[in-house]
Amino acid sequence: MTGYAASLTPAHEAFLNDLFPGDGCVLTREGMNAFATDASQERAMPWAVVRPESREQVAELLRWAHGERMPIYGRARGTGRVGNAVPSLGGVVVSMLRMAGEPVVDADDFVAVVRPGVVTADLQAACAAKGLFYPPDPASVRISTIGGNVATCAGGLRAVKYGVTRDWVLGLETVLPGGRVLRSGGRSHKDVVGLDLTRLMVGSNGRLGLITEIIVKLIPLPETSASVLVGFADLRAALDGARAVFRAGVLPAACEFMDRVTLEAVRLGGEAIPLAASAQAALLFKLDGTQEGVDAEVRHLVKALGPLDPVSVEVGRGEDEGAVWTVRRGISPAAFRIAPDKLAEDISVPRGRVAEAVERAHEIGRGRGLIVLCFGHLGDGNIHVNVMYDGSAAGEAAAAAGAKDEIFRLAVALGGTISGEHGTGLTKASFVAEQLGRDAMGLMDDVRRVFDPRGIMNPGKGW
Ligand SMILES: Cc1cc2nc3c(=O)[nH]c(=O)nc-3n(C[C@H](O)[C@H](O)[C@H](O)COP(=O)(O)OP(=O)(O)OC[C@H]3O[C@@H](n4cnc5c(N)ncnc54)[C@H](O)[C@@H]3O)c2cc1C
Repeated sequence: MTGYAASLTPAHEAFLNDLFPGDGCVLTREGMNAFATDASQERAMPWAVVRPESREQVAELLRWAHGERMPIYGRARGTGRVGNAVPSLGGVVVSMLRMAGEPVVDADDFVAVVRPGVVTADLQAACAAKGLFYPPDPASVRISTIGGNVATCAGGLRAVKYGVTRDWVLGLETVLPGGRVLRSGGRSHKDVVGLDLTRLMVGSNGRLGLITEIIVKLIPLPETSASVLVGFADLRAALDGARAVFRAGVLPAACEFMDRVTLEAVRLGGEAIPLAASAQAALLFKLDGTQEGVDAEVRHLVKALGPLDPVSVEVGRGEDEGAVWTVRRGISPAAFRIAPDKLAEDISVPRGRVAEAVERAHEIGRGRGLIVLCFGHLGDGNIHVNVMYDGSAAGEAAAAAGAKDEIFRLAVALGGTISGEHGTGLTKASFVAEQLGRDAMGLMDDVRRVFDPRGIMNPGKGW
Protein backbone atom coordinates (compact mmCIF):
# COMPACT_ATOMS: atom_id res chain seq x y z
CA MET A 1 0.00 0.00 0.00
CA THR A 2 1.28 3.44 -0.83
CA GLY A 3 0.42 7.04 -0.05
CA TYR A 4 0.47 6.73 3.75
CA ALA A 5 2.52 9.03 5.94
CA ALA A 6 6.03 7.52 5.83
CA SER A 7 7.04 8.43 9.39
CA LEU A 8 6.27 10.79 12.24
CA THR A 9 7.59 14.30 11.51
CA PRO A 10 8.47 16.81 14.27
CA ALA A 11 5.20 18.61 13.41
CA HIS A 12 3.26 15.35 13.91
CA GLU A 13 4.97 14.79 17.26
CA ALA A 14 4.13 18.32 18.37
CA PHE A 15 0.47 17.79 17.40
CA LEU A 16 0.21 14.53 19.34
CA ASN A 17 2.01 15.89 22.43
CA ASP A 18 -0.32 18.85 22.41
CA LEU A 19 -3.51 16.77 22.06
CA PHE A 20 -2.40 14.15 24.60
CA PRO A 21 -0.49 16.00 27.32
CA GLY A 22 1.60 14.33 30.06
CA ASP A 23 1.89 10.56 29.64
CA GLY A 24 -1.05 10.56 27.19
CA CYS A 25 1.45 10.46 24.32
CA VAL A 26 4.30 7.91 24.26
CA LEU A 27 7.13 8.37 21.80
CA THR A 28 10.02 6.43 23.39
CA ARG A 29 10.99 3.00 22.09
CA GLU A 30 10.86 1.47 25.57
CA GLY A 31 7.43 2.97 26.23
CA MET A 32 6.03 1.78 22.90
CA ASN A 33 7.51 -1.73 23.02
CA ALA A 34 4.53 -3.32 24.79
CA PHE A 35 2.20 -1.93 22.09
CA ALA A 36 4.08 -3.64 19.25
CA THR A 37 2.46 -7.03 19.74
CA ASP A 38 -0.63 -8.85 21.02
CA ALA A 39 -1.51 -12.43 21.96
CA SER A 40 -0.69 -13.53 18.40
CA GLN A 41 3.03 -12.79 18.93
CA GLU A 42 3.03 -10.89 15.61
CA ARG A 43 5.15 -7.79 16.00
CA ALA A 44 5.64 -4.31 14.47
CA MET A 45 6.75 -1.12 16.22
CA PRO A 46 4.37 1.87 16.19
CA TRP A 47 5.64 5.41 15.64
CA ALA A 48 3.58 6.76 18.53
CA VAL A 49 1.10 5.54 21.16
CA VAL A 50 -1.67 7.81 22.42
CA ARG A 51 -4.11 7.35 25.30
CA PRO A 52 -7.30 9.36 24.79
CA GLU A 53 -9.59 10.01 27.74
CA SER A 54 -12.44 11.68 25.86
CA ARG A 55 -14.48 11.37 22.68
CA GLU A 56 -13.33 14.89 21.73
CA GLN A 57 -9.68 13.80 21.75
CA VAL A 58 -10.49 10.78 19.59
CA ALA A 59 -12.41 12.97 17.14
CA GLU A 60 -9.56 15.47 16.89
CA LEU A 61 -7.05 12.65 16.40
CA LEU A 62 -9.04 11.06 13.57
CA ARG A 63 -9.59 14.45 11.90
CA TRP A 64 -5.81 14.93 11.89
CA ALA A 65 -5.02 11.33 10.86
CA HIS A 66 -7.42 11.56 7.92
CA GLY A 67 -5.71 14.72 6.71
CA GLU A 68 -2.19 13.31 7.15
CA ARG A 69 -3.13 9.81 5.93
CA MET A 70 -1.68 8.44 9.14
CA PRO A 71 -2.29 4.72 9.88
CA ILE A 72 -4.37 4.36 13.07
CA TYR A 73 -4.42 1.17 15.14
CA GLY A 74 -7.06 0.97 17.88
CA ARG A 75 -6.01 -1.17 20.82
CA ALA A 76 -7.43 -2.29 24.13
CA ARG A 77 -5.89 -5.13 26.21
CA GLY A 78 -4.04 -6.73 23.28
CA THR A 79 -5.49 -10.21 23.92
CA GLY A 80 -6.42 -10.68 20.26
CA ARG A 81 -4.92 -13.85 18.83
CA VAL A 82 -4.54 -12.88 15.16
CA GLY A 83 -2.52 -9.65 15.27
CA ASN A 84 -5.41 -7.26 14.75
CA ALA A 85 -4.03 -4.71 17.23
CA VAL A 86 -0.49 -4.90 15.77
CA PRO A 87 0.60 -1.71 13.93
CA SER A 88 1.80 -3.57 10.85
CA LEU A 89 2.43 -0.36 8.82
CA GLY A 90 3.80 1.71 11.71
CA GLY A 91 1.56 4.71 12.46
CA VAL A 92 -0.22 5.59 15.70
CA VAL A 93 -1.55 3.06 18.22
CA VAL A 94 -4.60 4.38 20.09
CA SER A 95 -4.92 2.72 23.49
CA MET A 96 -8.58 2.90 24.54
CA LEU A 97 -7.96 1.81 28.15
CA ARG A 98 -8.34 5.27 29.68
CA MET A 99 -11.84 5.48 28.23
CA ALA A 100 -13.22 3.45 31.12
CA GLY A 101 -15.12 4.16 34.40
CA GLU A 102 -18.14 2.60 36.12
CA PRO A 103 -20.75 1.23 33.68
CA VAL A 104 -24.20 2.79 34.08
CA VAL A 105 -26.58 -0.13 34.63
CA ASP A 106 -30.27 0.66 34.16
CA ALA A 107 -32.54 -1.96 35.72
CA ASP A 108 -35.67 -0.41 34.17
CA ASP A 109 -34.44 -0.29 30.58
CA PHE A 110 -32.42 -3.51 30.99
CA VAL A 111 -29.36 -1.88 29.44
CA ALA A 112 -25.86 -0.91 30.48
CA VAL A 113 -24.02 2.07 29.01
CA VAL A 114 -20.31 1.41 29.11
CA ARG A 115 -17.09 2.95 27.83
CA PRO A 116 -14.89 0.73 25.69
CA GLY A 117 -11.91 0.35 28.04
CA VAL A 118 -13.91 -1.46 30.74
CA VAL A 119 -12.84 -5.08 31.30
CA THR A 120 -15.79 -7.30 30.38
CA ALA A 121 -15.80 -9.20 33.71
CA ASP A 122 -16.12 -5.83 35.50
CA LEU A 123 -19.14 -4.98 33.34
CA GLN A 124 -20.66 -8.37 34.20
CA ALA A 125 -20.02 -7.80 37.91
CA ALA A 126 -21.65 -4.34 37.79
CA CYS A 127 -24.70 -5.92 36.12
CA ALA A 128 -24.82 -8.87 38.55
CA ALA A 129 -24.82 -6.42 41.48
CA LYS A 130 -28.25 -5.29 40.22
CA GLY A 131 -29.48 -8.82 39.48
CA LEU A 132 -28.82 -8.42 35.75
CA PHE A 133 -26.86 -10.49 33.26
CA TYR A 134 -24.60 -9.66 30.30
CA PRO A 135 -24.09 -13.20 28.92
CA PRO A 136 -21.20 -13.09 26.37
CA ASP A 137 -18.23 -14.75 28.06
CA PRO A 138 -15.06 -15.13 26.00
CA ALA A 139 -12.49 -17.23 27.85
CA SER A 140 -10.57 -13.93 28.06
CA VAL A 141 -13.45 -12.24 29.94
CA ARG A 142 -11.20 -11.19 32.83
CA ILE A 143 -8.41 -9.82 30.65
CA SER A 144 -10.16 -8.31 27.61
CA THR A 145 -12.35 -5.22 27.29
CA ILE A 146 -15.91 -4.72 26.16
CA GLY A 147 -14.56 -2.40 23.40
CA GLY A 148 -12.24 -5.14 22.15
CA ASN A 149 -15.08 -7.69 22.42
CA VAL A 150 -17.39 -5.47 20.35
CA ALA A 151 -14.70 -4.71 17.77
CA THR A 152 -13.98 -8.44 17.34
CA CYS A 153 -17.53 -9.73 17.96
CA ALA A 154 -16.13 -12.02 20.63
CA GLY A 155 -17.83 -15.36 21.19
CA GLY A 156 -17.60 -17.54 24.24
CA LEU A 157 -18.68 -20.64 26.08
CA ARG A 158 -22.29 -19.55 26.50
CA ALA A 159 -22.82 -18.71 22.81
CA VAL A 160 -24.86 -21.85 22.18
CA LYS A 161 -27.69 -20.50 24.36
CA TYR A 162 -27.07 -16.75 24.42
CA GLY A 163 -25.32 -15.93 21.17
CA VAL A 164 -22.19 -13.80 20.68
CA THR A 165 -21.34 -10.16 21.41
CA ARG A 166 -23.22 -9.01 18.28
CA ASP A 167 -26.49 -10.26 19.77
CA TRP A 168 -26.19 -8.00 22.83
CA VAL A 169 -25.13 -4.64 21.41
CA LEU A 170 -28.05 -2.20 21.08
CA GLY A 171 -26.19 1.02 20.34
CA LEU A 172 -22.78 2.49 19.69
CA GLU A 173 -21.00 5.79 19.54
CA THR A 174 -18.21 5.56 16.96
CA VAL A 175 -15.73 8.21 15.86
CA LEU A 176 -15.06 7.94 12.14
CA PRO A 177 -11.98 8.98 10.17
CA GLY A 178 -12.22 12.74 9.58
CA GLY A 179 -13.61 13.19 13.12
CA ARG A 180 -17.35 12.65 12.53
CA VAL A 181 -19.19 11.07 15.45
CA LEU A 182 -21.72 8.38 14.47
CA ARG A 183 -24.43 7.41 16.96
CA SER A 184 -26.22 4.24 15.92
CA GLY A 185 -28.97 2.33 17.69
CA GLY A 186 -29.84 3.23 21.28
CA ARG A 187 -31.55 1.91 24.39
CA SER A 188 -34.53 0.46 22.57
CA HIS A 189 -34.47 -3.35 22.41
CA LYS A 190 -36.07 -3.26 18.98
CA ASP A 191 -35.25 -0.94 16.08
CA VAL A 192 -35.79 -1.59 12.37
CA VAL A 193 -35.35 1.91 11.02
CA GLY A 194 -32.69 2.08 8.32
CA LEU A 195 -29.68 -0.11 7.79
CA ASP A 196 -28.21 -1.66 10.93
CA LEU A 197 -25.00 0.35 11.29
CA THR A 198 -24.53 -0.91 14.85
CA ARG A 199 -24.20 -4.50 13.63
CA LEU A 200 -21.88 -3.37 10.87
CA MET A 201 -19.54 -1.89 13.47
CA VAL A 202 -19.58 -5.03 15.64
CA GLY A 203 -16.76 -7.23 14.40
CA SER A 204 -15.25 -4.52 12.18
CA ASN A 205 -11.92 -4.86 14.02
CA GLY A 206 -11.13 -1.17 14.23
CA ARG A 207 -11.31 -0.84 10.42
CA LEU A 208 -14.29 1.53 10.22
CA GLY A 209 -13.83 3.79 13.25
CA LEU A 210 -13.04 3.88 16.97
CA ILE A 211 -15.87 2.92 19.32
CA THR A 212 -16.18 5.35 22.24
CA GLU A 213 -19.42 4.22 23.93
CA ILE A 214 -21.44 1.01 23.96
CA ILE A 215 -25.03 0.24 25.01
CA VAL A 216 -25.60 -3.44 25.75
CA LYS A 217 -28.80 -5.35 26.36
CA LEU A 218 -29.27 -7.16 29.68
CA ILE A 219 -31.50 -9.94 30.98
CA PRO A 220 -32.27 -11.18 34.50
CA LEU A 221 -29.36 -12.97 36.16
CA PRO A 222 -30.01 -16.74 36.24
CA GLU A 223 -30.66 -17.91 39.78
CA THR A 224 -28.27 -20.84 39.63
CA SER A 225 -26.29 -23.17 37.38
CA ALA A 226 -24.93 -26.71 37.33
CA SER A 227 -22.34 -28.42 35.13
CA VAL A 228 -22.07 -32.01 33.94
CA LEU A 229 -18.86 -33.66 32.71
CA VAL A 230 -19.48 -36.84 30.73
CA GLY A 231 -16.87 -39.34 29.52
CA PHE A 232 -17.42 -41.52 26.42
CA ALA A 233 -15.69 -44.50 24.84
CA ASP A 234 -15.05 -42.55 21.62
CA LEU A 235 -15.66 -39.25 19.84
CA ARG A 236 -18.63 -40.47 17.78
CA ALA A 237 -20.46 -41.54 20.96
CA ALA A 238 -19.76 -38.12 22.49
CA LEU A 239 -21.11 -36.26 19.48
CA ASP A 240 -24.16 -38.53 19.35
CA GLY A 241 -24.60 -37.74 23.04
CA ALA A 242 -24.69 -34.00 22.38
CA ARG A 243 -27.27 -34.59 19.65
CA ALA A 244 -29.41 -36.67 22.04
CA VAL A 245 -29.34 -33.89 24.65
CA PHE A 246 -30.57 -31.25 22.19
CA ARG A 247 -33.20 -33.66 20.82
CA ALA A 248 -34.46 -34.18 24.36
CA GLY A 249 -35.30 -30.46 24.41
CA VAL A 250 -32.45 -29.36 26.67
CA LEU A 251 -30.66 -26.18 25.59
CA PRO A 252 -27.45 -25.96 27.63
CA ALA A 253 -25.75 -22.62 28.30
CA ALA A 254 -22.47 -24.28 27.27
CA CYS A 255 -21.71 -27.50 25.41
CA GLU A 256 -18.00 -28.20 25.12
CA PHE A 257 -16.19 -31.26 23.76
CA MET A 258 -12.69 -32.65 24.16
CA ASP A 259 -11.12 -35.29 21.94
CA ARG A 260 -8.86 -38.21 22.93
CA VAL A 261 -5.62 -36.30 22.35
CA THR A 262 -6.82 -33.41 24.47
CA LEU A 263 -7.69 -35.74 27.36
CA GLU A 264 -4.30 -37.48 27.03
CA ALA A 265 -2.55 -34.12 27.28
CA VAL A 266 -4.52 -33.19 30.41
CA ARG A 267 -3.86 -36.62 32.01
CA LEU A 268 -0.11 -36.29 31.40
CA GLY A 269 -0.19 -33.65 34.17
CA GLY A 270 -0.89 -36.47 36.67
CA GLU A 271 -3.57 -34.53 38.59
CA ALA A 272 -6.83 -36.22 39.57
CA ILE A 273 -9.64 -35.28 37.19
CA PRO A 274 -13.35 -36.09 37.61
CA LEU A 275 -13.44 -38.24 34.46
CA ALA A 276 -13.12 -42.04 34.00
CA ALA A 277 -9.64 -43.16 32.93
CA SER A 278 -11.25 -45.10 30.07
CA ALA A 279 -12.88 -41.97 28.57
CA GLN A 280 -11.57 -41.29 25.05
CA ALA A 281 -13.74 -38.20 24.54
CA ALA A 282 -15.71 -35.93 26.84
CA LEU A 283 -18.60 -33.49 26.84
CA LEU A 284 -19.00 -30.70 29.34
CA PHE A 285 -22.40 -29.06 29.75
CA LYS A 286 -23.46 -26.02 31.74
CA LEU A 287 -27.12 -25.48 32.55
CA ASP A 288 -28.50 -22.30 34.06
CA GLY A 289 -31.86 -20.89 35.15
CA THR A 290 -34.05 -21.32 38.22
CA GLN A 291 -33.18 -23.96 40.83
CA GLU A 292 -36.14 -26.16 39.83
CA GLY A 293 -35.44 -25.67 36.13
CA VAL A 294 -31.76 -26.58 36.42
CA ASP A 295 -32.51 -29.65 38.55
CA ALA A 296 -35.03 -30.85 35.96
CA GLU A 297 -32.65 -30.17 33.07
CA VAL A 298 -29.83 -32.11 34.74
CA ARG A 299 -32.20 -35.09 35.09
CA HIS A 300 -33.33 -34.84 31.42
CA LEU A 301 -29.76 -34.51 30.23
CA VAL A 302 -28.44 -37.52 32.12
CA LYS A 303 -31.43 -39.60 30.96
CA ALA A 304 -30.93 -38.55 27.31
CA LEU A 305 -27.28 -39.66 27.47
CA GLY A 306 -28.13 -43.13 28.87
CA PRO A 307 -28.41 -44.93 25.49
CA LEU A 308 -24.90 -43.75 24.55
CA ASP A 309 -23.39 -45.69 27.49
CA PRO A 310 -21.22 -42.91 28.92
CA VAL A 311 -18.24 -44.25 30.89
CA SER A 312 -18.60 -41.55 33.56
CA VAL A 313 -21.02 -38.78 34.54
CA GLU A 314 -20.00 -36.15 37.06
CA VAL A 315 -22.50 -33.47 38.11
CA GLY A 316 -21.14 -30.31 39.73
CA ARG A 317 -23.45 -27.98 41.65
CA GLY A 318 -22.79 -24.98 43.86
CA GLU A 319 -19.24 -24.90 45.18
CA ASP A 320 -18.43 -28.17 43.39
CA GLU A 321 -19.35 -26.83 39.97
CA GLY A 322 -15.88 -25.38 39.36
CA ALA A 323 -14.26 -28.80 39.85
CA VAL A 324 -15.83 -30.29 36.72
CA TRP A 325 -14.33 -27.44 34.68
CA THR A 326 -10.74 -28.22 35.74
CA VAL A 327 -10.26 -30.50 32.71
CA ARG A 328 -11.46 -27.84 30.27
CA ARG A 329 -9.51 -25.03 31.94
CA GLY A 330 -6.30 -27.05 31.91
CA ILE A 331 -6.22 -27.65 28.16
CA SER A 332 -4.17 -24.69 26.94
CA PRO A 333 -1.13 -25.32 29.19
CA ALA A 334 -1.57 -29.12 28.90
CA ALA A 335 -1.20 -29.03 25.11
CA PHE A 336 2.50 -28.21 25.52
CA ARG A 337 3.04 -31.62 27.14
CA ILE A 338 2.52 -33.04 23.62
CA ALA A 339 5.00 -30.73 21.85
CA PRO A 340 6.70 -27.42 22.65
CA ASP A 341 4.97 -25.37 19.91
CA LYS A 342 1.46 -25.09 18.58
CA LEU A 343 -0.55 -23.44 15.87
CA ALA A 344 -3.92 -22.77 17.50
CA GLU A 345 -6.81 -22.18 15.09
CA ASP A 346 -10.53 -21.75 15.67
CA ILE A 347 -12.40 -23.06 12.67
CA SER A 348 -16.17 -23.40 12.77
CA VAL A 349 -18.30 -25.86 10.80
CA PRO A 350 -22.01 -26.73 10.66
CA ARG A 351 -22.71 -28.63 13.86
CA GLY A 352 -23.58 -31.86 12.05
CA ARG A 353 -20.11 -31.96 10.52
CA VAL A 354 -17.99 -31.59 13.66
CA ALA A 355 -17.10 -35.31 13.82
CA GLU A 356 -15.93 -35.28 10.21
CA ALA A 357 -13.93 -32.09 10.76
CA VAL A 358 -12.19 -33.48 13.85
CA GLU A 359 -11.39 -36.85 12.26
CA ARG A 360 -10.02 -35.23 9.13
CA ALA A 361 -7.98 -32.73 11.14
CA HIS A 362 -6.36 -35.69 12.94
CA GLU A 363 -5.65 -37.32 9.55
CA ILE A 364 -4.11 -34.11 8.22
CA GLY A 365 -1.77 -34.06 11.21
CA ARG A 366 -0.87 -37.75 10.84
CA GLY A 367 -0.13 -37.23 7.15
CA ARG A 368 2.55 -34.74 8.14
CA GLY A 369 3.85 -36.63 11.18
CA LEU A 370 2.21 -34.23 13.66
CA ILE A 371 -0.29 -34.55 16.48
CA VAL A 372 -3.46 -32.47 16.27
CA LEU A 373 -5.70 -31.95 19.28
CA CYS A 374 -9.25 -30.69 19.01
CA PHE A 375 -11.64 -29.31 21.61
CA GLY A 376 -14.07 -26.45 21.78
CA HIS A 377 -17.56 -25.12 21.61
CA LEU A 378 -19.43 -28.09 20.16
CA GLY A 379 -22.74 -26.29 20.51
CA ASP A 380 -21.57 -23.73 17.93
CA GLY A 381 -19.52 -26.13 15.77
CA ASN A 382 -16.54 -23.97 16.79
CA ILE A 383 -13.48 -26.24 17.05
CA HIS A 384 -10.17 -25.19 18.53
CA VAL A 385 -7.70 -27.13 16.37
CA ASN A 386 -4.19 -27.16 17.80
CA VAL A 387 -1.43 -28.41 15.51
CA MET A 388 1.41 -29.43 17.83
CA TYR A 389 5.02 -29.36 16.62
CA ASP A 390 8.61 -28.82 17.67
CA GLY A 391 9.94 -25.69 16.00
CA SER A 392 13.53 -26.77 16.68
CA ALA A 393 13.11 -30.04 14.70
CA ALA A 394 13.97 -29.81 11.02
CA GLY A 395 10.92 -29.26 8.83
CA GLU A 396 8.30 -29.40 11.62
CA ALA A 397 7.37 -25.71 11.54
CA ALA A 398 6.80 -25.92 7.78
CA ALA A 399 4.81 -29.14 8.22
CA ALA A 400 2.62 -27.43 10.84
CA ALA A 401 2.04 -24.44 8.57
CA GLY A 402 1.06 -26.81 5.76
CA ALA A 403 -1.34 -28.65 8.08
CA LYS A 404 -2.91 -25.34 9.11
CA ASP A 405 -3.53 -24.42 5.46
CA GLU A 406 -5.17 -27.81 4.85
CA ILE A 407 -7.34 -27.43 7.94
CA PHE A 408 -8.56 -24.00 6.77
CA ARG A 409 -9.47 -25.46 3.37
CA LEU A 410 -11.21 -28.36 5.11
CA ALA A 411 -13.35 -25.93 7.16
CA VAL A 412 -14.45 -24.04 4.06
CA ALA A 413 -15.08 -27.28 2.13
CA LEU A 414 -17.36 -28.48 4.95
CA GLY A 415 -19.43 -25.30 4.64
CA GLY A 416 -17.74 -23.63 7.60
CA THR A 417 -15.36 -20.77 8.26
CA ILE A 418 -11.65 -20.27 8.97
CA SER A 419 -12.51 -18.42 12.17
CA GLY A 420 -15.50 -18.66 14.50
CA GLU A 421 -14.13 -16.23 17.10
CA HIS A 422 -10.64 -14.87 16.74
CA GLY A 423 -10.90 -13.18 13.36
CA THR A 424 -8.31 -13.07 10.61
CA GLY A 425 -6.04 -10.06 11.26
CA LEU A 426 -2.48 -10.71 10.14
CA THR A 427 -2.19 -14.44 10.72
CA LYS A 428 -5.05 -15.54 8.44
CA ALA A 429 -5.12 -12.56 6.08
CA SER A 430 -4.14 -14.61 3.03
CA PHE A 431 -7.14 -16.95 3.44
CA VAL A 432 -9.92 -14.39 3.67
CA ALA A 433 -10.41 -14.05 -0.08
CA GLU A 434 -10.40 -17.84 -0.44
CA GLN A 435 -13.36 -18.10 1.92
CA LEU A 436 -15.31 -15.00 0.95
CA GLY A 437 -14.69 -14.87 -2.79
CA ARG A 438 -13.91 -11.87 -4.91
CA ASP A 439 -17.41 -10.36 -5.10
CA ALA A 440 -17.98 -10.29 -1.35
CA MET A 441 -14.46 -8.99 -0.75
CA GLY A 442 -15.03 -6.21 -3.30
CA LEU A 443 -18.30 -5.18 -1.63
CA MET A 444 -16.69 -5.15 1.80
CA ASP A 445 -13.88 -2.95 0.50
CA ASP A 446 -16.49 -0.59 -1.01
CA VAL A 447 -18.31 -0.39 2.35
CA ARG A 448 -15.05 0.27 4.17
CA ARG A 449 -14.21 3.12 1.77
CA VAL A 450 -17.51 4.85 2.59
CA PHE A 451 -16.42 5.10 6.24
CA ASP A 452 -12.70 5.42 5.66
CA PRO A 453 -11.97 6.73 2.14
CA ARG A 454 -8.24 7.11 2.81
CA GLY A 455 -7.82 3.65 4.33
CA ILE A 456 -6.21 4.84 7.57
CA MET A 457 -8.05 2.52 9.97
CA ASN A 458 -6.10 -0.62 10.91
CA PRO A 459 -4.57 -1.01 7.43
CA GLY A 460 -2.73 -4.15 6.38
CA LYS A 461 -5.18 -6.64 7.90
CA GLY A 462 -7.38 -9.36 6.41
CA TRP A 463 -10.49 -8.15 8.24
C1 LIG B 1 -6.51 -16.69 26.88
C2 LIG B 1 -7.36 -16.11 25.78
C3 LIG B 1 -8.64 -16.59 25.61
C4 LIG B 1 -9.45 -16.08 24.59
N1 LIG B 1 -10.72 -16.54 24.46
C5 LIG B 1 -11.54 -16.03 23.53
C6 LIG B 1 -12.87 -16.51 23.39
O1 LIG B 1 -13.32 -17.39 24.11
N2 LIG B 1 -13.65 -15.95 22.44
C7 LIG B 1 -13.19 -14.95 21.61
O2 LIG B 1 -13.94 -14.46 20.77
N3 LIG B 1 -11.93 -14.50 21.72
C8 LIG B 1 -11.09 -14.99 22.65
N4 LIG B 1 -9.81 -14.52 22.76
C9 LIG B 1 -9.35 -13.44 21.87
C10 LIG B 1 -9.50 -12.01 22.46
O3 LIG B 1 -9.55 -12.03 23.87
C11 LIG B 1 -10.72 -11.30 21.91
O4 LIG B 1 -10.56 -11.08 20.52
C12 LIG B 1 -11.04 -9.96 22.61
O5 LIG B 1 -12.29 -9.49 22.15
C13 LIG B 1 -9.98 -8.88 22.38
O6 LIG B 1 -10.19 -7.85 23.33
P1 LIG B 1 -9.04 -6.82 23.73
O7 LIG B 1 -9.64 -5.88 24.72
O8 LIG B 1 -7.83 -7.54 24.17
O9 LIG B 1 -8.77 -6.09 22.33
P2 LIG B 1 -7.42 -5.96 21.48
O10 LIG B 1 -6.81 -7.31 21.29
O11 LIG B 1 -6.57 -4.91 22.05
O12 LIG B 1 -8.00 -5.47 20.09
C14 LIG B 1 -8.70 -6.36 19.25
C15 LIG B 1 -9.23 -5.62 18.02
O13 LIG B 1 -10.22 -4.70 18.43
C16 LIG B 1 -9.90 -3.39 17.96
N5 LIG B 1 -10.37 -2.45 18.99
C17 LIG B 1 -10.12 -2.51 20.32
N6 LIG B 1 -10.79 -1.51 20.95
C18 LIG B 1 -11.47 -0.82 20.00
C19 LIG B 1 -12.34 0.31 20.01
N7 LIG B 1 -12.68 0.93 21.13
N8 LIG B 1 -12.84 0.74 18.82
C20 LIG B 1 -12.55 0.11 17.66
N9 LIG B 1 -11.72 -0.96 17.59
C21 LIG B 1 -11.19 -1.41 18.75
C22 LIG B 1 -8.40 -3.39 17.73
O14 LIG B 1 -8.05 -2.46 16.74
C23 LIG B 1 -8.21 -4.82 17.25
O15 LIG B 1 -8.54 -4.88 15.88
C24 LIG B 1 -8.96 -15.05 23.73
C25 LIG B 1 -7.66 -14.57 23.91
C26 LIG B 1 -6.86 -15.10 24.91
C27 LIG B 1 -5.47 -14.56 25.08
